[in-house]
Amino acid sequence: MESFSELLKVQRDFFQSGKSKELSFRIKALTSLGNLIRSHETELMAALKKDLNKSNFDTYITEMGILLEEIRFTLKHIKDWTQPRKVKTTFTQMGSKSYIYSEPYGVVLIISPWNYPLQLAIAPLIGAIAAGNCAILKPSELTPETSKLMAELISKTFPPEYISVVQGDAEITQGLLEEKFDYIFFTGSVAVGKVIMEAAAKHLTPITLELGGKSPCIVHHDANLKFAAKRIAWGKFINAGQTCVAPDYLYVHRDIKDEFLRVLIESIKELYAEIVKNGEFTRIVSERHFNRVASLLTSGEILHGGKNSIDNLTIEPTLLGGITWDDAIMKEEIFGPILPILDYNDERTMINKINEHPKPLALYIFSENKEFQATILNSVSFGGGCINDTVMHLSSPYLPFGGVGESGIGAYHGRGSFDVFSHQKSILKQTTTFDLPFRYPNRKDALKQIKFFIK
Ligand code: NAD
Repeated sequence: MESFSELLKVQRDFFQSGKSKELSFRIKALTSLGNLIRSHETELMAALKKDLNKSNFDTYITEMGILLEEIRFTLKHIKDWTQPRKVKTTFTQMGSKSYIYSEPYGVVLIISPWNYPLQLAIAPLIGAIAAGNCAILKPSELTPETSKLMAELISKTFPPEYISVVQGDAEITQGLLEEKFDYIFFTGSVAVGKVIMEAAAKHLTPITLELGGKSPCIVHHDANLKFAAKRIAWGKFINAGQTCVAPDYLYVHRDIKDEFLRVLIESIKELYAEIVKNGEFTRIVSERHFNRVASLLTSGEILHGGKNSIDNLTIEPTLLGGITWDDAIMKEEIFGPILPILDYNDERTMINKINEHPKPLALYIFSENKEFQATILNSVSFGGGCINDTVMHLSSPYLPFGGVGESGIGAYHGRGSFDVFSHQKSILKQTTTFDLPFRYPNRKDALKQIKFFIK
């Protein structure tokens, strides 16, 4: 294509042809997408290994597996989701029927980050296809192997007027954002989220922003410490902490802090010592990000780990103690394998402290006490999370996934992905068998009669 406006035009023309809206076309496209992932497993795993030193196991469970499951779930329900949904009609509109039609927006732009470069580009695409849209995908420039391979595979599988991949950096994205899209779905940082929202505002384009932030993980004195330690160590250090919903920091009750730290260190060793030793631990994506994350190691004191290498862009799983809210590590999202630990005695003070900061994308509570769990859920606003686990909520197609406040706008996954890319068109079908007189003003006692119905 000569220019982005030309690409937009051919996609718009294709959308107008109505092809992408046909149910059979959507089903075929989703099936092809699933086959693309299955049949290029080896190449995709190799690309992610090159970009992030991701192990095949991690690539499968955090990227390909999630996508295949989303496609399976979508194919199972798509017939149902695309039907007009009949809803109730009020007594005052007697004789009519009401329906909600899910209508595709048109040409949508999906901008994705580098940390799960395959999953975070393709998961929204599944929703866009299911809802009947055409799409332009702009993956991250920081994972060039995966982005290049995705562009290649998508162009072999779908015509450009239906789905296209545009590769490039911030400048290229800015160029795309000049165009008028019908929907923009962005996953990335809070700072760039603001740039996207501003650009979308110029065309009044609706958006979803899947952003990040500092997600707290609370370990109460009555928690099952063994399970807590293992599930936190996994959720924090998977992908070297470069997960939007990774526990950013721990808030541990003072009574069990020492014991919990002991079990947590054991869990980290059990899960990661061998992987780190064999050079199989995921690396930090770039030198710039490495320098940013490594500089945070100077906060507090190192309780475990801390070794790092700029040559390999690796930082081993690290625990930091003696942390206060004034430390540099508590000022920004860490997005790396460093876990700072704060403690608390008084739950109200701990809750107030969390609430002094932007609403997190995720929050995790480890406790056996239902009252304590309910207090946190009722007192803190956050995107979503788990009780007695970490990260797992994002893998359920039944749970809409997204942030609130600074951690994002909108949610997807499962039915949510279909809804995000659909406009809900409300239609009232009126009867022509009779005509209720109440709305008309030219009757005796018109107001009195209408007041009889509207209490
Ligand atoms: P980023 O915001 O730097 O980049 C995301 C995308 O935006 C990339 O495709 C990039 O090319 C583009 N971009 C960068 N600068 C831009 C600019 N000035 N104008 C237009 N486009 C621009 O994010 P990242 O570093 O790739 O990813 C890390 C961030 O993403 C973290 O904050 C993390 O929490 C967040 N994240 C959120 C989710 C979620 O689902 N909520 C998932 C993964 C990552």
